[in-house]
Amino acid sequence: MAVDATLPYDDQNIFARILRGEIPARKVFEDDWALAFHDINPQSPTHILVIPKGAYVSWDDFSARASEPEISGFVRAVGHAAREAGLVAPGYRLLANTGLDSHQEVPHLHVHVFAGRPLGPLLAR
Ligand code: 5GP
Repeated sequence: MAVDATLPYDDQNIFARILRGEIPARKVFEDDWALAFHDINPQSPTHILVIPKGAYVSWDDFSARASEPEISGFVRAVGHAAREAGLVAPGYRLLANTGLDSHQEVPHLHVHVFAGRPLGPLLAR
């Protein structure tokens, strides 16, 4: 079910639980600012999720409230995860759903990294 990105942060969301180690994830990369792991239901041959370590509901929340080190750390972590996975030469797509119309399902900011085949047009019609 899509979540309302204007609601307060819920620390019981599934990605908060992954960050706390309460639920396993297939980790790709981790540093002080971010964790990258494989999506449980991949939509492309490579489908990685990158999340900030801080408690942010969405891109909107993060871009409004995160500190400069958190923002730069997270942006670099997304690039690093994709680079380390060998995705730069073949190419990849980033996507961050925010709120109801986007169909965001998990209320902790995550950037999807899609790759591994030609991805086609930007949006399904
Ligand atoms: P959203 O629709 O919020 O942008 O994307 C949420 C993503 O989280 C979906 O692609 C879904 O497959 C993934 N996901 C949901 N629960 C889990 C989980 O427990 N583990 C992992 N690795 N991915 C999950």
